[in-house]
Amino acid sequence: PYVITEPCAGTKDKSCVAVCPVDCIHEGTVEVDGVLIDQLFIDPAECIDCGLCEPECPVDAIFMEDEVPAQWSQYIEINAEFYKTG
Ligand code: SF4
Repeated sequence: PYVITEPCAGTKDKSCVAVCPVDCIHEGTVEVDGVLIDQLFIDPAECIDCGLCEPECPVDAIFMEDEVPAQWSQYIEINAEFYKTG
């Protein structure tokens, strides 16, 4: 799946939401080590890897999972965490 990384927080442009054909991008918060991360997240179980969202992001926050820059690699798990239930 695609993954939304740190530059999204504080921007939350939402252009990606408008183009996603399966409506799998949602806004919310995830707590990591006591810090609240407030941004948009992609549901890895629903993303169909179409890539339409990536060029829409004005702050280049969206990457294919295997192309996420090393300093943001934890966002792969953070996006998934947002969609874990229970
Ligand atoms: Fe949605 Fe396609 Fe982006 Fe996945 S790659 S989040 S399906 S727009």
